[in-house]
Amino acid sequence: MSSLTISLTAPNGRKYDQPTGLFINNEWVASSKSNKITSINPTDESEIASVHAAEPEDVDKAVAAARAAFNDPSWRDMASSDRGDLMYKLSQLVEANKELLATIETWDNGKPYQVALNEDLAEVAGCLKYYAGYADKIHGQVIDTTPAKLAYTIREPVGVCGQIIPWNYPLAMAAWKLGPALACGNTVVIKAAEQTPLSILVFANLIKEAGFPPGVVNVINGHGRVAGAAMAQHMDIDKVAFTGSTATGKEIMKMASVNMKNITLETGGKSPLIVFDDADLEQAVRWSHVGIMSNMGQICTATSRILVQETIYDKFVEAFKKQVSEVSKVGDPFSDETFQGPQVTKAQYDRVLSYIEAGKQDGATLALGGEAYKNVGDGKGFFVTPTVFTHVKSSMRVFREEVFGPFVVVVSFKDEAEALKQANDTTYGLGSAIFTKDIVKAHRVARKIEAGMVWINSSQDSDFRIPFGGVKQSGIGRELGEAGLAAYSNTKAVHVNLGTWL
Ligand code: ADP
Repeated sequence: MSSLTISLTAPNGRKYDQPTGLFINNEWVASSKSNKITSINPTDESEIASVHAAEPEDVDKAVAAARAAFNDPSWRDMASSDRGDLMYKLSQLVEANKELLATIETWDNGKPYQVALNEDLAEVAGCLKYYAGYADKIHGQVIDTTPAKLAYTIREPVGVCGQIIPWNYPLAMAAWKLGPALACGNTVVIKAAEQTPLSILVFANLIKEAGFPPGVVNVINGHGRVAGAAMAQHMDIDKVAFTGSTATGKEIMKMASVNMKNITLETGGKSPLIVFDDADLEQAVRWSHVGIMSNMGQICTATSRILVQETIYDKFVEAFKKQVSEVSKVGDPFSDETFQGPQVTKAQYDRVLSYIEAGKQDGATLALGGEAYKNVGDGKGFFVTPTVFTHVKSSMRVFREEVFGPFVVVVSFKDEAEALKQANDTTYGLGSAIFTKDIVKAHRVARKIEAGMVWINSSQDSDFRIPFGGVKQSGIGRELGEAGLAAYSNTKAVHVNLGTWL
């Protein structure tokens, strides 16, 4: 075994080989300064492994590999169906290795194993397969003007794409970005988040195994302000795609201006979920719970502001508290009983606890939870009890700011106009949800909500076949679905003169 691979045994007993280097040109290489990122198990705060962290000069190497691959006929001129076959093969390899990848995801991120396996890994394989099918269905148009002209368009790849991904769904976010990029014929340098550096390195081996030519996908770990910033500012990267916080998204946008990179940004949210008094209350309660408490509340589209019509407010709050208490079982993420594992890092755990203090200070009513949870193992780990604040006003920080944890505010409204005013009273515009049995009202409100996505009578049931993205300060551009291809291809227009002779 090379010095860039170590043997690990996960808490569920699974043994495997963990690469630790940078994956450039289908090879494992050390970072130029041997700086490392150490991954911490959020369940018990132990160190899992240290991996190489890319420096700007390593980013240069990865970009050079991606550029050479982009210009190499073995990729550039590959038949689009063959490109689709490679992607399909990759999706099959993910499927074949899903237990291992889910194990690493749970160990490194803290998400419940059953969720990692049945939701995240299903999403990774499904998304790659979906875009594999698109590889040979991306084409231009013939545009009729006059008999004297033939005009047509060609869909071309953008070039070398820098992809910067977050820690909440490490492999799924990679798949969302790799799928459309590869289907369109781009090459990629992808950087994982420093909190969750491990699973993507095992995934990188599958890219080679699937048969992708060297340099088509380069996978690096690295600190955001070092490697991420080097990518955002790189003169030979044509596009940067980012998922993460709004503050970082703004910085990336500025840096990307150096060579006017094409950008896609998927950033923060404070998504509303509106419950009208004619809703199926039981369903509204169940979906509201899933909408904020899944994945430890670490979801950009989490419906973290529940707006309930005043006539059913008290009834809803009682039923919601009961649902959270009964279903949100906090515990070891490798236990099948567990609904909620630890927050990903100490920093995120501290952040959630600080918002609990902010809610109390600002005068909201703490209706449930509101403390660190120390009853797992020997009391270590970044666990927080699921937290519900009621009687929240729109001026409070807990109403306005993204917490990114198992933390929700429940607010009352009088009528439809007030519900919309509250829903749109935010700088964000990512997800939203409406509960009502009145289909006319549902569609009317859906049109007026300022958000990239609206769920009617559900929450968080995203799907890789359906466009995903935000408005306002929740992002720019769309991922997933056919719309996701637009972000990874340029349209070239070709004008053919058939008779305008001078
Ligand atoms: P969070 O605050 O949730 O950790 P971030 O937006 O900071 O989210 O991080 C998301 C991704 O962006 C990670 O891969 C991180 O390394 C990267 N990142 C963070 N800061 C920068 C930066 N200044 N430039 C480029 N990438 C960055």
